[in-house]
Amino acid sequence: MTQRTRHEGPMASDMMWEAGMGGGGPYVECSCGTEHTLDPDLTDDEYYDADSFEYIELDDNLFVYGCDGCAKKLGRYESFIWNNRDTIRRYLKIRIDQEKAWADQEHLLNQLADII
Ligand SMILES: [Zn+2]
Repeated sequence: MTQRTRHEGPMASDMMWEAGMGGGGPYVECSCGTEHTLDPDLTDDEYYDADSFEYIELDDNLFVYGCDGCAKKLGRYESFIWNNRDTIRRYLKIRIDQEKAWADQEHLLNQLADII
């Protein structure tokens, strides 16, 4: 993989998983409709020691790490982002510049009102 290419295959890359914001839990229903649950026969100690199901949230969907269906669906989002990265990058620059201009205006108004 080079700087200008995306990884091969339909599955989301580790970088996409790492970029996501999410969490984990003992029960997660993923974007595929699969219910990921810990073994109900676990003792209380085993239950609290067991690894939870890690997930990320994107576009109102939960993608569970280790679920092949989620990896494919998340891979489509990654492809979209990667294939449209120049447009996304320009949009973010415009948006950030506008937010900075608004913040500068508010800062000036604070100074004029002698609010420090
Ligand atoms: Zn899934």
